[in-house]
Amino acid sequence: MSKSRNSLSPNSARGIDTAKKVPLAPGRSLMDWIRNAPKRSPRRSSISEDELAQHNTEQDCWLAVRDIVYDVTAYVAYHPGGRDQIMRGAGIDATELFNEYHPWVNVENMLKTCVVGRLSMTKKFKMPLAPVLQTLSVNGGIVSTSAPLEKPFFDWMQDDNYVYLFVTINQEMLLRKEYVTIIHSNDTNEIKVYVYIKSHCFFLGFKLSGQIISVNFDIENNKNIKISLEKKEKSAWKKIGAALSDNKSFTKVQALPKLKFPTYLEEKTQLTHDSFLFTFRHAKNAILRVPIGRHVHILLPNNQSLIRPYTPVPKAVTSRSKNDGTQTTLLIKVYQDGMFTSKLSEVKIGDKILMSIPEGAFDLQKVQDAVSITLFAAGTGITPMLGIIQHCLIEQFLEIRKLRLIFFNKTENDMMLKEDLEKLAVKFPNNFKITHVLSASSSSWNGKTGRISENLVREIVPQIVVENDDLADDEKLLCACGPKPFTDLTVQILKRLNVSESCIYPFSG
Ligand code: NAD
Repeated sequence: MSKSRNSLSPNSARGIDTAKKVPLAPGRSLMDWIRNAPKRSPRRSSISEDELAQHNTEQDCWLAVRDIVYDVTAYVAYHPGGRDQIMRGAGIDATELFNEYHPWVNVENMLKTCVVGRLSMTKKFKMPLAPVLQTLSVNGGIVSTSAPLEKPFFDWMQDDNYVYLFVTINQEMLLRKEYVTIIHSNDTNEIKVYVYIKSHCFFLGFKLSGQIISVNFDIENNKNIKISLEKKEKSAWKKIGAALSDNKSFTKVQALPKLKFPTYLEEKTQLTHDSFLFTFRHAKNAILRVPIGRHVHILLPNNQSLIRPYTPVPKAVTSRSKNDGTQTTLLIKVYQDGMFTSKLSEVKIGDKILMSIPEGAFDLQKVQDAVSITLFAAGTGITPMLGIIQHCLIEQFLEIRKLRLIFFNKTENDMMLKEDLEKLAVKFPNNFKITHVLSASSSSWNGKTGRISENLVREIVPQIVVENDDLADDEKLLCACGPKPFTDLTVQILKRLNVSESCIYPFSG
């Protein structure tokens, strides 16, 4: 879709709602739509852009949002923005329009009975792309051959009570809350803001001119991050403060300085005989969520050479997790003879632990693009998989996506979050299947046994063996995480089964 069709109004950069509403005829409210929505029809796995384009009239109107094609013919009369507005998306990929006007609307749920199927990637990925800045707007980011990532724009303003920092993203991506980390230190009065944009991070750092009481942020129009710093005193600030080194830098995540900030152990919940959910409350004015598939490091304050990476457990997978920006819950296995975890297990509620800002390079785009996702997890290697599971099953309407988890543990007593995962498998029977494999099971275990092997993979997931598989490489994702020998062996086995390397993502810490 060309940019000129839906370019932003000049006012939108400061959060003015661009979505205009028109009076709807009686009986055309959202509640009426929920009551009258058509019945679900069978979904198709692939609809080409050419086919989509043929359904472009009010009597036969399809549109695509975030790679899902919807038949909105019945919905046109219910569209709060009016018929003309929704018809702008008729027969095309309307993701960009949608993100501009109402990115917060849960389209997947609202139009769930209107799904025709998945928009075929064929044209997007197989056809040569125009050389410059050719991007495809898809949920979670852009796909591009040559487009560089664009550096965000920064501005600030103030009123009596607040200083506002504005970061405007020039990237076509769904701006998720976990892409923003803000750490303010009371001791130094420094504020550090990290905005994660795919492989890169935009950094803002200032020693503030005045004292502040609180920090908050909102995302507006999927483009603007508005950070509100509540002033301690009502006086005007002449400037925001002194810039810290690297202020306004835009670097690869791996190149970020390793900032650590204080957190306090808030809660410890036992999951199995040796694994626990540790919830850490962040220091005041430290807002941090970890992007899916990425991790944080934690350190013991009195021994900073001991440092370990952990991936937070999403709240949607278990209600015992507390990741909400002010707290982070990590799943940690305590090894009696482990250098780090034996010491961590002695930490008391209220004790200080240092935590890093989010690290890692996993790109959510891989999950967005795949229709078939196979997760090989061993032991605590389940943790990065949980975010993927949560994203696919809970956040996104993905009835046409297949998710397989093969979870390797030693014994029945080592299976972490078993009930929570099983609840999801029951809730999404057509989309999510779990196979447990035990390497040292009791005699009463009647499930799969052993360690990962080529035969076991062929037996559990025969469809991923390339000869049995009719999916394109970019429609598949296979992730592996666990002890290093397990992860390495899984990758080797998948390659032996002719799975293309581009579909395989090993989490390697
Ligand atoms: P574990 O020792 O309980 O083993 C779990 C299963 O892994 C075993 O039942 C077996 O099936 C398999 N396994 C173990 N060793 C193997 C080997 N040599 N070859 C093939 N399969 C093998 O696992 P754990 O104690 O929970 O350890 C989990 C590991 O995952 C840790 O090393 C942790 O660092 C790693 N991990 C990595 C990340 C990441 O990289 N992002 C995230 C979480 C966990």
